[in-house]
Amino acid sequence: MDVPLWSTFSYLADRSLPRGQRVRVSFGSRRMCGVVTNNGNAEQQYAFRIKCVDEVFDELPPLPEAFLDLVNFAAGYYHHPYGQTLFTALPTALREPRAVRLPDRRVWRLTPAGRDAEVAPRHKVRHALWQALCADDLAPEGARAVAPSAATILKAWQDSGWVTRVDAAVPPLAVEGVIPLNTAQRAALDAIEASSAPHKPWLLHGVTGSGKTEVYLQLIERQLRAGRQVLVLVPEINLTPQLIARFTQRFPLTPTAVLHSHVADGERLVAWVDAWQGRARIVIGTRLAVFTPMPELGMVIVDEEHDGSFKQQDGLRYHARDLAVWRAHRAAVPIVLGSATPCLETLANVDAGRYRRLVLAERAHHAAALPTVRLVDVRRAKRSEGLTDEVLAALADRVRKRELSLVYINRRGFAPVVACTECGWLSGCPRCSAKLVVHLLERKLRCHHCGWEEAVPHVCPDCGNTDIKPLGEGTQRLEAALGRALPTARILRIDRDTTQRREAWNDIYRQVHAGEVDILVGTQMLAKGHDFGALSLVAILNADAALYSADFRASERLFSQLIQVAGRAGRAERPGEVLLQTQWPEHPLYQALVAHDFDRYAAELLGERRQLGFPPASFQAQLRADAPTLAEASDFLHTIRERLAQPAQASGVAVCGPAPALMVKLANRERAQLVLESPQRAALHQLLNQLTEWLPAQNVGRGLRWSLDVDPQDT
Ligand code: ADP
Ligand code: ZN
Ligand code: ZN
Repeated sequence: MDVPLWSTFSYLADRSLPRGQRVRVSFGSRRMCGVVTNNGNAEQQYAFRIKCVDEVFDELPPLPEAFLDLVNFAAGYYHHPYGQTLFTALPTALREPRAVRLPDRRVWRLTPAGRDAEVAPRHKVRHALWQALCADDLAPEGARAVAPSAATILKAWQDSGWVTRVDAAVPPLAVEGVIPLNTAQRAALDAIEASSAPHKPWLLHGVTGSGKTEVYLQLIERQLRAGRQVLVLVPEINLTPQLIARFTQRFPLTPTAVLHSHVADGERLVAWVDAWQGRARIVIGTRLAVFTPMPELGMVIVDEEHDGSFKQQDGLRYHARDLAVWRAHRAAVPIVLGSATPCLETLANVDAGRYRRLVLAERAHHAAALPTVRLVDVRRAKRSEGLTDEVLAALADRVRKRELSLVYINRRGFAPVVACTECGWLSGCPRCSAKLVVHLLERKLRCHHCGWEEAVPHVCPDCGNTDIKPLGEGTQRLEAALGRALPTARILRIDRDTTQRREAWNDIYRQVHAGEVDILVGTQMLAKGHDFGALSLVAILNADAALYSADFRASERLFSQLIQVAGRAGRAERPGEVLLQTQWPEHPLYQALVAHDFDRYAAELLGERRQLGFPPASFQAQLRADAPTLAEASDFLHTIRERLAQPAQASGVAVCGPAPALMVKLANRERAQLVLESPQRAALHQLLNQLTEWLPAQNVGRGLRWSLDVDPQDT
């Protein structure tokens, strides 16, 4: 049941119910949906206290074992209550304590008696319907298209024994618009095809535009030919009509289920059940699609595997990529993780020999070379309101030529640190290796890893310079300045607000492709895999702030975003140019960007993480608490910390904090956290097992909430 309790519950039934069976039960005063997890009689002696199952929902078969296995693994790995895990994995319609109604998708078929019936042509409608049935089976929609009143007629014919309903045959495979692969793509495809160790994940590491999607499509074709289903996971923002069209154009007859959070409940249920019953052969979806049952699963593809949206940030905080890897391993089918900028966790897995890497080093289009990247040193350049003349001139030039530019403003996702403009000094924590975050109101510097706190210094401790200030201010100003400096440019802003609506991206694509836009201005959202066609210039304005953020993942994210955003330049026939304004042009991250050398800087970052003992060199879990005041949240975590101290020490797990969260205050509640960290995953999980044995029963104060995040993405 969907209750925040770690145990399962016993109910009586008048017959033996299979595992995975959905039922209705009463729980306290509530009627709830339950799923049978096992079938025992251990508690028979207490039978007088056990309630009965009220109703058995058998319009669908019991949930399959492979699905329950995945749920079981997820509940264990993320230390989340089993019932809540199970109900997160189910589509909403199946969480309710009532039977679901599914449309009858069977087709109408003429019986021999029906064929002999020879409906006379003067009954125009009936004759048309009969003729259509003589030619082929008819799906309900197909019948309606022939005759609006088909349903009534067919019912009558069914009673007379003229027609029956049968399951539709899987349509034949049709494949259209296949592109011949280049050498690198072919080598990747062959390696995956020929492998005798299917369970070992593949990393398909290909620069943007290198033809990864084409490789996926050809891999999928082979799976479909072999009669197997394929699961494709994509980031939230990339699941555009354009992407889906690319799949349906390639396999026009193949039933494809699309699953994401914007699909209405009813539709999602149908898609889910279609996949489960084997009717849908391809499932494309966002993170939640990882749970879709697929009895004939032959391959899993995770596109843009580095993308943050694969991690769920509330409730069951699962990572869909990681669950997909487990699932593929369990099903002994290949899994391909694709990215131009794989995350360090994945690269570490390649280093350790657990994953295998395939490289597509060049763009697939001969004409489309990688863009030239130039660093604009803002320390020397003349600036007006944060914009250098060089960048402004380049933008003006493109506007004149009616070429599309993109201005990338790095805004969210970093916490400000204090820096010296003279010597480059940065506020670091004296107790641990994290950066101190500035809290301007209290004029305090705080460590969000260990909780250290100090006053903001007035002069630079290294060189005595008095000009020290937080990095990354003034993004709003930049946007406004852009509009004033280029009054004739048609500027389109893309951010969370302008893309809320479902159709928003379609409008944006339409405007861009119709040539109605000169400059796209946007934040991190623009770094994703959108194809805006001929992007001639990309200007990156304030990347520096993220470079020295307190979040240890910030550099990795920035690097990945910049590579992705630079990858938008020059995708079509025209070569692109990238201009990046920075105070630190000598920084290795920017140098790697200029050289298009992902590997070198990624290796450097990985080395840094290993040195500091941060993931992926260690494994973390975060216990978060929020309450009306920070003191309450911290007090609670202190108690937990004390109780954990001894077992943590025994198992070699470090307990850091409590420290205020990076965003301390959210919706009027203050948040703090405790980080558990160990170089040994097993040790960490053992401690978490102990923790979740007593934590749920812990008497927490009123208004206090806690949650556990395994492999947290933001610290
Ligand atoms: P990615 O997924 O790596 O960004 P895509 O598969 O979208 O790359 O390919 C980028 C562009 O190159 C697309 O327009 C695609 O049609 C084209 N393309 C892919 N493979 C080839 C190929 N072998 N020959 C010519 N063009 C290709
Ligand atoms: Zn200094
Ligand atoms: Zn610290």
